[in-house]
Amino acid sequence: MPISEPSDRREPSPGDGTLATPAHSRLTVLSGPSGVGKSTVVAELSKTCPQIWISVSVTTRKPRPGEVDGREYHFVDDAEFDRLVASGALLEWARFAGHRYGTPRAPLANKLEAGVACLLEIDLVGARQVKRAVPGARLVFLAPPSWDELVRRLSGRATESPEILARRLAVAREELAAADEFDITLVNTSVQDVSRQLITLIEQCGSV
Ligand code: ADP
Ligand code: 5GP
Repeated sequence: MPISEPSDRREPSPGDGTLATPAHSRLTVLSGPSGVGKSTVVAELSKTCPQIWISVSVTTRKPRPGEVDGREYHFVDDAEFDRLVASGALLEWARFAGHRYGTPRAPLANKLEAGVACLLEIDLVGARQVKRAVPGARLVFLAPPSWDELVRRLSGRATESPEILARRLAVAREELAAADEFDITLVNTSVQDVSRQLITLIEQCGSV
């Protein structure tokens, strides 16, 4: 498993392949450019439909103000992330704007095994890995109403330095160009509307 790539966008390979569960259609993956509103939509969905299980990713990024370890992310250092990759504990992982992010395999497998509808909020590189590793997973792309609105949302969030903001916007252009790799695109004009659409989609998977 390569764990130190020079580029943000070089694609890692997933742990050791597939999830040991047949419940693939219960898995939904939400991706989209940084700042489009993924976390906001997922928080809304979680409020209205708490029976959908949201995976908590592992990251080497530092917590933002208000983020709590184990809630938004499991915050780990590089050595711990290396250990997780080496032991196959991550279903997928990717580098994003200077940090690594990954989906813990075991909690997700347990939930799918138990018949629970599951949602991953991950980047494009991770979504591609899940598509290969979990046939039947539904891939949803969250798009901004316009490029200018995406820039407004990302800079308005005021969580990144100008340098990191520029990096995230450069990656966003690549992510937007890959929207047709997804099963469906939802445009985040209204958080409530998109959250409802997402819940309906997941219900259509026969899973809620
Ligand atoms: P992501 O998780 O995709 O990086 P966030 O959920 O952090 O994005 O949202 C980025 C910013 O955009 C936040 O300030 C959020 O409040 C705002 N936002 C999210 N959805 C909408 C929307 N539909 N309309 C206006 N602002 C939004
Ligand atoms: P942020 O730093 O803004 O929380 O997240 C940056 C990017 O990492 C977002 O596109 C988010 O969807 C993605 N991300 C979060 N968790 C994971 C994960 O477990 N795996 C992958 N591949 N990407 C993730």
